[in-house]
Amino acid sequence: MAETKTNRGYLSATIGCRCPRCREGKLFQYPVSANLKKNMTMHKNCPVCGQPTEIEVGFYYGTSYVSYAITVAMSVASLAVWAFTIGLSIDDNRFFYWMGTNAVLLLLLQPWLMRLSRSFWISWFVKFDRDWRQHQPEDVSERMNADQANNW
Ligand SMILES: [Zn+2]
Repeated sequence: MAETKTNRGYLSATIGCRCPRCREGKLFQYPVSANLKKNMTMHKNCPVCGQPTEIEVGFYYGTSYVSYAITVAMSVASLAVWAFTIGLSIDDNRFFYWMGTNAVLLLLLQPWLMRLSRSFWISWFVKFDRDWRQHQPEDVSERMNADQANNW
């Protein structure tokens, strides 16, 4: 088997919003966009290996916890950077400038953070399969009722 196999590691595949099974196919149909509906439109199946991106009804409900955790982690990181570069004195409002800057930053990153949390979420349920070409993706049709799936 001399087929090209991906060298992407778990983190670069997940942060790049790639399918966790083959680490090649993109999960989302469009580039990151301020149009949230477009931004969150996923391929129904991975365009490379056929892995379904929604493996059961309401699969992505839990992602709000993930996006919360990422938001907290990013705020801590930006606070650390701010503390070392600008400082966090309360007397001259530097701390409050951080709060404002951090809020704007998170707001701007929101479309990407929403994707990232879905990408992390599915990566915890779908295993990387180095030999995905030899295997069929898991059949999820029983867990996916077509009518309900269309509401997403
Ligand atoms: Zn794939």
